[in-house]
Amino acid sequence: MEQYGRTRDEKYCQSCGRTISAQADICPACGARVGYRSGESYIYEHQTWLIVLLLCIFIGPLGLHRFYVRKIGTGVLMLLTAGGLGIWVIVDLIMIVMGRFTDAEGNRIY
Ligand SMILES: [Zn+2]
Repeated sequence: MEQYGRTRDEKYCQSCGRTISAQADICPACGARVGYRSGESYIYEHQTWLIVLLLCIFIGPLGLHRFYVRKIGTGVLMLLTAGGLGIWVIVDLIMIVMGRFTDAEGNRIY
């Protein structure tokens, strides 16, 4: 019988959602960097989330929140299209608020 819950020795890959070993730094399924969740990185990531959120709210159409997470290509695209005429910015904002926004390496920002 398959088990869906997370056990002590397992965690979810933030990129592909598979359950992987808690010791893994790289997801064996998709190759994304997963790393550890120490207290320090927890604070760091929430700080990133807050900065990304504020950038998106105040100057979203400039795409700076995408530059900030090193998504340079789509950042430029967003700048050129004025945030997809605002629609793309709103989609990004919802993703950020829901904790679904990812950086260039596929790590969720929340
Ligand atoms: Zn993965």
